[in-house]
Amino acid sequence: MSPKKGLMISAVALATALTLSACADSGASTPSAAPVEKAPTFDEGTTMAKLSEAGEITIGTKFDQPLFGLVGPDGTPVGFDVEIGKLIAGKLGISADNITWTETVSANREPFIQNGQVDIVVATYTINDTRKEVISFAGPYYEAGQDLLVLAGNPDKINGPDDLAGKAVCSVSGSTSEKNVLEYTTNVLATDTYTNCLEPLRTGQVVAVTTDNVILAGLADQNAGEFEVVDNPFTKEPYGIGLAKDDTEFRDFINDVLEESFEDGSWADAWDATAGKVLQTPEPPKVDRY
Ligand code: GLU
Repeated sequence: MSPKKGLMISAVALATALTLSACADSGASTPSAAPVEKAPTFDEGTTMAKLSEAGEITIGTKFDQPLFGLVGPDGTPVGFDVEIGKLIAGKLGISADNITWTETVSANREPFIQNGQVDIVVATYTINDTRKEVISFAGPYYEAGQDLLVLAGNPDKINGPDDLAGKAVCSVSGSTSEKNVLEYTTNVLATDTYTNCLEPLRTGQVVAVTTDNVILAGLADQNAGEFEVVDNPFTKEPYGIGLAKDDTEFRDFINDVLEESFEDGSWADAWDATAGKVLQTPEPPKVDRY
């Protein structure tokens, strides 16, 4: 083994150790006290009635995105998206331990909804017209913006997307981030998850990782001292809850749950217990009943 390779491996081992300790932290401190309705009733034949009667729901989320959806040592994900999922389940009378969490990466969110592998997706999922052709969205429940993650100290002096011309950037297949960044550079390394972009950034294969600011902030926080977010967001990414296309009753129900959570403080509690540990508290967005 060359000395350089040995060095790289120990850097990876260190990063893994840091990741594990970060997981243990967030796992231990995240409450999962979303209220569970006692015996809610729903119109016969609706998705709500079906799920509520079954007493279980399958939710797609990210498994490697700190602050929004990150699997802890016990195998259960924690984060703001996870808490939003629990709020919806709770209103169906389903407790957190009757939720099956399925990992959805960016590219398989629509197919997993379309083929019924998941009942809903809560996974830093931007509402847009292309996706609305095949699925429906409730929400938004948060609005992010696309940004750039660079090495600490910003050695390549990347201050915004205009500085990317001709440079290599890493993003994820099937994301809006990958599509949007193509306006600024065609040199895009596409992987399946944002954590898989970190090693190419460390080794200099790319000068930046691009996706939503809040995802990048979580990755920077998880790998303290290694990276920084440029903090110059250049898109709007309203996060929605993906569900089967044209299941209007279910969409209206989830929109009601969201609006209620904005009002009664449960949305803010979910934020404070998760993403709010690192990010500033936002105002709740306005639900879009398109
Ligand atoms: N919010 C963007 C999207 O839905 C980027 C983040 C992600 O890939 O989850 O594509």
